[in-house]
Amino acid sequence: MDCKTLILFLFFFTLISSADFIIHPSNEVNLLDSKASQGELGWISSPSHGWEEISGVDEHYTPIRTFQVCNVMEYSQNNWLRTNWIPRNSAQKIYVELKFTLRDCNSIPMVLTCKETFNLHYLETEEDQGNKFREHQFSKIDTIAADESFTQMDLGDRILKLNTEVREVGPMTKKGFYLAFQDVGACVALVSVRVYFKKCPFTVRNLAMFPDTVPTDSQSLVEVRGSCVNNSKEEDPPKMYCSTEGEWLVPIGKCLCNIGYEERGVACQACRPGFYKASSGNVKCSKCPPHSYTHQEGSVHCGCEKNYFRADEDPASMACSRPPSAPRNVISAINETSVILDWNWPADTGGRKDVIFNVVCKRCWPGPRQCEPCRGAVRFLPRAFGLTNTTVTVADLLAHTNYTFEIEAQNGVSFQAPTIRQYAAVTITTNQAAPSAVTVIRKDRTSRNSISLSWMEPERPNGIILDYEVKYYEKEQETSYTILRSKGTNVTLNGLKPDTTYLLQIRARTAAGYGSSSRKFEFETSPDSFSISSENSQVVLIAISSAVAIILLTVVLYIVISRFCRYSKSKHPDEKRLPFGNGHLRLPGIKTYVDPHTYEDPSQAVHEFAKELDASSIAIDKVVGAGEFGEVCSGRLKLPSKKEICVAIKTLKAGYTEKQRRDFLSEASIMGQFDHPNIIRLEGVVTRSKPVMIVTEYMENGSLDGFLRKHDAQFTVIQLVGMLRGIASGMKYLSDMGYVHRDLAARNILVNSNLVCKVSDFGLSRVLEDDPEAAYTTRGGKIPIRWTAPEAIAYRKFTSASDVWSYGIVLWEVMSYGERPYWEMSNQDVIKAVDEGYRLPPPMECPATLYQLMLDCWQKDRNNRPKFEQIVSILDKLIRNPSSLKITASTASRPVNLLLDRNSTDITSFHTMGDWLESARTLPCKDAFSGVSYSSCDTLAKTSAEDFKKVGVTIVGPQKKIVSSLTTLETHSKNGPVPV
Ligand code: AMP
Repeated sequence: MDCKTLILFLFFFTLISSADFIIHPSNEVNLLDSKASQGELGWISSPSHGWEEISGVDEHYTPIRTFQVCNVMEYSQNNWLRTNWIPRNSAQKIYVELKFTLRDCNSIPMVLTCKETFNLHYLETEEDQGNKFREHQFSKIDTIAADESFTQMDLGDRILKLNTEVREVGPMTKKGFYLAFQDVGACVALVSVRVYFKKCPFTVRNLAMFPDTVPTDSQSLVEVRGSCVNNSKEEDPPKMYCSTEGEWLVPIGKCLCNIGYEERGVACQACRPGFYKASSGNVKCSKCPPHSYTHQEGSVHCGCEKNYFRADEDPASMACSRPPSAPRNVISAINETSVILDWNWPADTGGRKDVIFNVVCKRCWPGPRQCEPCRGAVRFLPRAFGLTNTTVTVADLLAHTNYTFEIEAQNGVSFQAPTIRQYAAVTITTNQAAPSAVTVIRKDRTSRNSISLSWMEPERPNGIILDYEVKYYEKEQETSYTILRSKGTNVTLNGLKPDTTYLLQIRARTAAGYGSSSRKFEFETSPDSFSISSENSQVVLIAISSAVAIILLTVVLYIVISRFCRYSKSKHPDEKRLPFGNGHLRLPGIKTYVDPHTYEDPSQAVHEFAKELDASSIAIDKVVGAGEFGEVCSGRLKLPSKKEICVAIKTLKAGYTEKQRRDFLSEASIMGQFDHPNIIRLEGVVTRSKPVMIVTEYMENGSLDGFLRKHDAQFTVIQLVGMLRGIASGMKYLSDMGYVHRDLAARNILVNSNLVCKVSDFGLSRVLEDDPEAAYTTRGGKIPIRWTAPEAIAYRKFTSASDVWSYGIVLWEVMSYGERPYWEMSNQDVIKAVDEGYRLPPPMECPATLYQLMLDCWQKDRNNRPKFEQIVSILDKLIRNPSSLKITASTASRPVNLLLDRNSTDITSFHTMGDWLESARTLPCKDAFSGVSYSSCDTLAKTSAEDFKKVGVTIVGPQKKIVSSLTTLETHSKNGPVPV
């Protein structure tokens, strides 16, 4: 029987193995697949009557090539079948999958030699060796046995049992290899041979692409870096590992879709029109918020519809909004010359919550458009602009006058639509009101029996003054008084007793009645023995003054000539004028400050630097303050052929010593050398008549500390920075001139009606003598401790750098609206704390940049402090770029300690508020609160008023501020304890 027929026609049998229906996994790459070949495979069969190649069809009737052998009727079989050369590609480990059928030996009658296995071999070579075939070169991979063999009966039933066996070979190193099948006497049919290797196939995971990767033969994993898909960027570097089994393991890191793109499937796709995505991240594109749109794909934000806007700080998710409509239902309640205005919120707030109101006052006359902006001292309570409540009180209006008030509503986008001004107007007429009191009364002439007086009309007459009532009486005889009426603003009181003191009060009358009385003024008639009139006394005075003037002139001439002679001997005349203790080498061409003490006669310095004024050109109006040497008054100065100007007049009180006079005038000698818009300007001095006066420009808003306290929280940061810039510019000028101020503090800065700040209070020894803040140090000098640099306190090293320290304190005073530096801590505690490195904390809502500037001014080493020139340029930059003022060293970020440890904090290193808060948490509390023991900052938040007293904080304001800042910190520090 031809054994081959035993296995022929196998393909007409039903294959019972399911292996043929398996789809190969995508991570397998075929190097050889016999089933894929339609024509002859051309494998070498040795000997030629051994393995035989035959054509057949598979179960799908697809033609395939198979090999079979069945020489079971002969002895000693050794039949080899060798494949063609198979290139290895990049594979290191290859798999051989064999499908075959095998005849059960027992089911073959009369066989001579029958085996139920065959052997699988391989040979690695660098190149195809063609038909050259030598058995001994091959290495055995395995003996292949069938799991199931078929019998004669199966043949009858047309059932064929197909075996599938897979063997691994590797590591492969050469370029290619051959496989060989050795038959030693079996009846076997090789249905298919597939050779493949495994790989980790291209994949996209977490928006990162990983390429096809072939694993190594060893057990280790291959680390593969992914690259982000289009329109995405790496957040964490994406990585995966390729296993030897061709599987991807352990994905790490990810990519995020760019702004304008969202994750769809395994790609980042552009947002559709009408949608936007403002941040990178794997969130979906959002629908445009109300009143906004986008027609493009991939939008980062949506534009606003016509007449709708978005403020700079509005997030992209916020609806576009518009200016509010006008306020509604304005009601006015008039009380004499004040009016309370009340109104309702606008019907349409424009879709925003940040609505504020501005009130514009106009004074009106009958007739069309007969209005002009209110002038003068109209007061708005709480203020005219930026109101958040719907009421305002307007006071100090003129009586019986028509006014129109325009109440305008604004919100965060109003400035973007300036043409749409929404306001409601109300017109009112003020009531009659009595005139205000007469405040300025001047004695013109006195004699034994009469006094002539004149006065100024009340500041607010509130109508036409019909007359004045003058009431006077002898001092301590109030019950017997005389009343005179005067149509004008002067009167002569006759029939008085000589050498007697009289008290006098004046009040004005209008149609509305009498106004309030002036305060009591005191006058004396001349004594009997000296009954010359003041006119006579003036003549005598002029004679005496002239004589004194001639003598003085002679002395001055003498001194000038002798000084000139001495100076002309010197090579550099300025050398003589260098101020002592200054040590500055001034640059040529820059004006240098001359210390008046270098003059042998200080009054000579006064006349060199200050203009002598005629007392008759000055009119005193009222007292505005008290200086060390006498009252400070406001008044007017009228110089020939010049416009009358408002001035401040400092007087030297009667009974002064010669030293006091010299010290008083030294301020003028210093001030007169300066000419700068931020230094108080000297108009002149009166030294030739009494009282001795220093006349300066008038600063309507008085000293800066009081002014800020009065207007707490009413200015914008830019306004405050503008004021600070002025002070810094004035100080730069002084330091350029070589002048060290030594007493720079907000109380020594004056403010005019345009909010221009000017440095004032110049002097020498007296600077510190008259400052109520100055205290004696251990070395005997008097120093304003809280404002003074440590080296100036310790060893009187006053320089422009110590003025910079004081400027830092002024900066703090300004940003805290006139708070007292170091509150009520004692001077000793201040010195100690500053010496230990602690610094004042940032004031409420203080921009971080300004707080950094303060800290720079308070550098211990004075060489590290900025120069005034740098301060001016820093402030200029902030003014030009106001957004830099938006990050505040706010309450939440305030350190918990009362004072801030300079060494542990550098706010420039804080990129986010979180960093800053983090740093605040770790600041020590205990040093600032020495003497009070706390276990954590949480307990500090519960600190009692008693505890604050121990550390010197006794006033209510700062305690509140500190407690509030601690409370804030407590809320923020819930996640963990704050170290103490
Ligand atoms: P002084 O002696 O310079 O400290 O002045 C005392 C007070 O007088 C100051 O605190 C101011 O309130 C006021 N004062 C001084 N000079 C002027 C001025 N030029 N304009 C307005 N007020 C002034």
